[in-house]
Amino acid sequence: MNASEFRRRGKEMVDYVADYLEGIEGRQVFPDVDPGYLRPLIPTTAPQEPETFEAIIEDVEKIIMPGVTHWHSPYFFAYFPTASSYPAMLADMLCGAIGCIGFSWAASPACTELETVMMDWLGKMLQLPEAFLAGEAGEGGGVIQGTASEATLVALLAARTKVTRRLQAASPELTQAAIMEKLVAYASDQVVATLGTTSCCSFDNLLEVGPICHKEGLWLHVDAAYAGSAFICPEFRHLLNGVEFADSFNFNPHKWLLVNFDCSAMWVKRTDLTGAFRLDPVYLRHSHQDSGLITDYRHWQLPLGRRFRSLKMWFVFRMYGVKGLQAYIRKHVQLSHAFEALVRQDTRFEICAEVILGLVCFRLKGSNKLNEALLESINSAKKIHLVPCSLRDRFVLRFAICSRTVELAHVQLAWEHIQEMAATVLRAQGEEKAEIKN
Ligand SMILES: *Cc1c(COP(=O)(O)O)cnc(C)c1O
Repeated sequence: MNASEFRRRGKEMVDYVADYLEGIEGRQVFPDVDPGYLRPLIPTTAPQEPETFEAIIEDVEKIIMPGVTHWHSPYFFAYFPTASSYPAMLADMLCGAIGCIGFSWAASPACTELETVMMDWLGKMLQLPEAFLAGEAGEGGGVIQGTASEATLVALLAARTKVTRRLQAASPELTQAAIMEKLVAYASDQVVATLGTTSCCSFDNLLEVGPICHKEGLWLHVDAAYAGSAFICPEFRHLLNGVEFADSFNFNPHKWLLVNFDCSAMWVKRTDLTGAFRLDPVYLRHSHQDSGLITDYRHWQLPLGRRFRSLKMWFVFRMYGVKGLQAYIRKHVQLSHAFEALVRQDTRFEICAEVILGLVCFRLKGSNKLNEALLESINSAKKIHLVPCSLRDRFVLRFAICSRTVELAHVQLAWEHIQEMAATVLRAQGEEKAEIKN
């Protein structure tokens, strides 16, 4: 493909994407395929001779789309949202075009410097303490990781290095191995200190956990993967109180802040993190190395390579503005409360956890078996898509406001559908009980 074909195909692809997203409501949210559906539909080896673009695009509708779960359908209420916006998609095109691998400042200065500034912008939107921002002095600051899981692992490794150094400084005879086998990581059954747990969006109290970690010299990592985006709204910022005790803090703009996957924002005290990963082969050195103002992000992450991900933050933040992003969060929270109100009006149901942001945990009053049957009937009808969670051994349905285009009408339709499914499941249960009696 040369540049002139790329111009043409690129425009066609933009049309395809816009048509797909504009018409997504008309597609069944969850696919009709069984495991292994795809292999028989495509050749077992790559083609020897080049094929045409038309042939590929035709196969997208025939082979790929039938097996896609449409995460951006307004009838998708499963898991948590994954971000999707046009500015982010356009920025990702540009990222692909520049195609740099920004592991050091010199490897592509704009890639490094925009990331540091975007992480400061975002940190200020959240009103993070100064210690987390890079600012003019270049002390502290943020880094874009691929996922919250990577950020947690990076924090764990940095904590390990920090404590190992501290102990070795005090007792030089201690070997690394002797120290490491004694190290302990504390966690609850929801992993690390979490603001907005995955199952029910509950919040750890950092103002209780933080001072203890501080006093005991423990590294405190805070995971707010989903909920973090909401902290840009002043009315939700109190949920972040206590972050001043954290050594590292992470959330996913790729969940709820309109920056397409992958973009996981992590802030940490710079001295701690770079110490944990310092790696300086000669071919990676450059003359600005130790200026202090310059970040070499390869020290802040597991991989060496990294994409120019800050471009999509820059595009999204500028095209929505903080006000636009706040309005987006607020709308989702309003919709979840609207759903909550509908559930509360129906006495057959109960709400299982306080609704704070965009997630409603609910169930039919009754057995786990009954609720499993309800979810099964909802997900096999495929009009909407939900996933469950387990709260203190109770089987619970999760209704997460996900799509960028979801409106009150979709939520109301979803609720009517859930009520119909519930009626069927309750009727079946009644018949079963009657049979057992007879
Ligand atoms: C989604 C989520 C994660 C996992 O996020 P990844 O970026 O996919 O690793 C971790 N913690 C919480 C609280 C989450 O909601």
